[in-house]
Amino acid sequence: MNATPLRALLATLLLGAALPAAAAETRIVATVAMIGDLAREVAGDCAQVDVLMGPGIDPHLYAPRPSDLRLLSDADLVLHVGLGLEGRFGALLARMGPGALAVAEALPEGAVVTGPEGGLDPHLWMDPALWSGTLRPMAEAMAARVPACAAEMDARAETLAAELAALDGWVAASVATIPETARVLVTAHDAFGYFARRYGLKEAALQGFSTEAEASIADIAETASLVINRGVPAVFVETTVNPRAVAALSEAVAAQGGAVALGPELFSDAMGDPATPEGSYIGMIRHNARAIVTALGGTPAPWPEALAPWAVRQGIANGG
Ligand SMILES: [Zn+2]
Repeated sequence: MNATPLRALLATLLLGAALPAAAAETRIVATVAMIGDLAREVAGDCAQVDVLMGPGIDPHLYAPRPSDLRLLSDADLVLHVGLGLEGRFGALLARMGPGALAVAEALPEGAVVTGPEGGLDPHLWMDPALWSGTLRPMAEAMAARVPACAAEMDARAETLAAELAALDGWVAASVATIPETARVLVTAHDAFGYFARRYGLKEAALQGFSTEAEASIADIAETASLVINRGVPAVFVETTVNPRAVAALSEAVAAQGGAVALGPELFSDAMGDPATPEGSYIGMIRHNARAIVTALGGTPAPWPEALAPWAVRQGIANGG
């Protein structure tokens, strides 16, 4: 963390004087891609955005690598979720003071849900309408580093907010096609509370808000009973969580004389490969919604016109 002053001193000595930072030299670091993708869209050519945690990485258990510390020490602004999502690493980020923004903590009061044990649920990106609320704080924090780009970033944030509103409407219309009794979302860890609340599903997860504590036998047995009693057709594994507990759940359902399908893998705490549509925030939510709706017996709604340009950029005709 002491590298920045040293580097600045060296630069001053070498160049004779500190030069004003050019727009493209402004460096933003995001912990997770759900922030990084939006920040990159808003920043355009005004700043470089790097993401620390790639596909399949669980932020709850994340330990920074030496290369991360280098990126952080060079960053003009660090964007993280906050509310404990980034585990112990988050505490380090919080100490970066005005150089860091916890986007979940910048949302209006009442946005964040408290769990049964009093913990705060950090998985706000699962509700596109809520997550859209991070755009303005992010744009303002970035504009403070590149004031010449303020108007441009503001306009980009507004365009993206309109796209997220269309995405939200599409998810709602899609989930509404699931037969009412099957509107139960069973996942490995409790990452889908905001999705479930927004779109009217009952949510049950084997592990809590964090993946730090393992699912207990009692949790698995209780969820198996719920699956059988409600006739839930499918349960879901996540790309960032060991599938062991969900496999144990389907065995427990079978042992009680029931049957449940294993739905497609969901993107909970990390997005997909950057080269695929799921490597974007809109694509991540689209994938999850399509997987959930289809596995629970519904039919995804037609892809919205407002998101047709996004689909074209991703090489998906008519949203797939
Ligand atoms: Zn999580």
